[in-house]
Formats: sequence, structure tokens, C-alpha cells
Amino acid sequence: MQRVLVTGGAGFIGGAVVRRLLSQSQALVFNLDKVGYASDCSGIEATLQGLGSEASDRYRFMRVDLADGEATAAALREADPDLVMHLAAESHVDRSIDGPDAFLSSNVTGTFSLLEAARAHWSALPQERQQGFRFHHISTDEVFGSLGATGRFSETTPYDPRSPYSATKAASDHLVMAWHHTYGLPVVLTNCSNNFGPWQFPEKLIPVVILKALAGESIPLYGDGANVRDWLFVEDHVDALLLAATKGVPGESYCVGGHGERTNKQVVEAICALLDQLRPAGAPHARLITPVADRPGHDRRYAIDPTRISRELGWQPRHGFAEGLEATVRWYIDHLTWCHEVRERGGYGGERMGIR
Ligand code: NAD
Repeated sequence: MQRVLVTGGAGFIGGAVVRRLLSQSQALVFNLDKVGYASDCSGIEATLQGLGSEASDRYRFMRVDLADGEATAAALREADPDLVMHLAAESHVDRSIDGPDAFLSSNVTGTFSLLEAARAHWSALPQERQQGFRFHHISTDEVFGSLGATGRFSETTPYDPRSPYSATKAASDHLVMAWHHTYGLPVVLTNCSNNFGPWQFPEKLIPVVILKALAGESIPLYGDGANVRDWLFVEDHVDALLLAATKGVPGESYCVGGHGERTNKQVVEAICALLDQLRPAGAPHARLITPVADRPGHDRRYAIDPTRISRELGWQPRHGFAEGLEATVRWYIDHLTWCHEVRERGGYGGERMGIR
């Protein structure tokens, strides 16, 4: 039975990875998370209830802050993994503008601790397990900076991070690759575009817009609304992650994106149109859209060229943007109590963050 350590499994994407491993593999899954403001394991608990005791026996939660090197090393000894999937990070650009320290601690020091713990663990493994071991680092397309009207990011795009968040993610990518080249640690790196889907903490664009619109509150649109993101449904990202972790070539990176380029204005308007159908009493929801001051240093456009992961690992997204968005909007409408609970627990009241 494979032993998999997922860091950040109480978060949005890590939670989706944990749920998939529990429901579609026989792996023993260790979920390591410090339990921050955005953490919540309700989705995993619901999955475990549906799957029964066999899956519960394969799941362990470990409350550890990766910035604590000793606790991280102890967690690696206990989990004794064949695969590490490293998703734990501070992840919200606006928060990184208000308080970059936490991003340095989690994304840089935390990745360093984990790499050192993984190196000690991997070096001591018997040869057969050592050959199969992988350290998969999950990163973002934001490390590549900002595109103009044309072009797409690929594995050969030079790094050019421009926010405290993306700078710390870039630093972590460099550490991971350095541990491969210097110590031989078998790492795989993926850089993905913006994710959306169920269980995302309601501070990111799509859930914020849904909740504001449902509450009849003004929907903030940063700047001119023309900033472009390349949206990917979270389950398609999980498909890509599991392929990269199991079939990716050590020392290589893979860009993940589903040809889902939309301006922020298009995304907000699409959500409003869906809500007009699903909650007609509030229509037209687009009347709530309110331009607000832009994010400082707001990257203009991200877009991914996923040729490599498609050609070499056979990955294709299974969901179009419209289909994924409708599923997401319906999910948030059905989980409003969860949204209010996690926002309250996380000390977030829906206010604007990240203005200098
Ligand atoms: P999230 O904020 O929802 O979850 C992150 C989790 O990591 C949280 O549960 C948090 O408690 C945990 N964590 C943070 N610092 C930690 C530490 N020091 N020790 C232990 N746990 C810690 O984030 P997400 O959206 O699920 O993103 C997961 C990963 O995917 C991140 O590395 C992010 O950079 C990357 N990524 C995200 C997106 C996206 O659109 N959300 C896109 C590409 C890549």
C-alpha cells in the first residue's frame, strides 16, 4: 500500500487531492496542515462518511506547521511516505500585500523544512523504495509574472514574480529544483493556473462574487475588470497532479491550464447570469457590479500552454469553464451555511484586503 503525505490537505486543492486519494486509490493518506484561517476538513469528513471504515483506516490528520523544522521532520518519520504532495502555502495575493511575513514563513521556510525532512527520509529508504520516491511540489503560474495581450506561459518561461505571494512561491520552486540538482531528491514540479470549484474558502474571486450577489451586496470588480486569468476546474487540476506525481519525470516541471482564459469582468458577469437563472428574485445581479480600486501591481494576464503535460502525460481537462462554473455556483448556493461558518471561524467578514 502506497503511503502518501499531502501537505495543505485542509485547504481547497489539497482537500480535493485527499478526497480523490481516499475514494479512488488504496493509499494510506497523511494530511499535514497547520490549520490556518482557510482550513476546513468538512469535505474530507463527508467523503469518509460515504466511504466507510476502510477509508477512515487509511486516513490520518497531522496538525503541523511546516515552519517548525523539528515537528516537520517528526511528521515525515511518522508518515514514512513514498510520495509527498506539497500543497501547503499561504495562497491569497491580497493577504500577501497586507502581511508578507506569513508567506515567507509558510512558503519559503516551510518548503525548506519539508525538503530537508524529505531528504533525510529519502536518503534512509531501502533502495527499491528510494527509487520510487517522489516529492511533488505544487506551484502556480503566477511565478512567471504578467503577460501582454498575446503569448502563453510554458515550462521554459523565465521566472518574473511580482507579488509577495508569487515571489515566495517562486522561491519555493527554486528551492525544490535546487534540492534535486544538488542532492538528487526526485522532485516533480507543476505550475497551474487559477483553480475554482467547491470548498474554496470564500475570499477568492468566484466564491466572493457568488456570496456578495446572493446577499444583494455590491460586487467588487478590481480596476477595469480586464485582467485575464486562465481558469481550471479543481478536479481537472487533481487529475493533472496525480499524473505528474506518478508519471512525471524527476527534475521536470509541467504547466497545467485548461484553455480557460476569461477577463475578471467576464467571470463576474457569467456568475451573475447563472444566478439570474437560479435565483431570479435577485435579477439582474449584474446591477451589483461595482468597480473598485485596482490591486497594487495587479498582473494583467496569465495564460498557460499545457502542451507538455498533455503530450507527455496524456492530461486533458474534463470540464469546460461554463460547466465547471455552473456546478460551482450551484454548490455554493447549497452550502451557504458552510460559507458563513468558515468565514466566521477564519475571522473574515468579506471585506476588501490588499490595498497599500
Ligand atoms: P488554501 O489557502 O485553500 O490552502 C492552503 C492550506 O495550506 C491551508 O489549509 C493552510 O492551513 C495550509 N498551510 C499554509 N501554511 C502552512 C504551514 N506553514 N504548515 C502547514 N500547513 C500550512 O490554498 P489552495 O488554493 O488550496 O492552494 C494549494 C496550493 O496550490 C498552494 O501551494 C498554491 O500556491 C497552489 N496553487 C493554487 C492555485 C489556486 O488557484 N488556488 C492555483 C495554482 C497553484
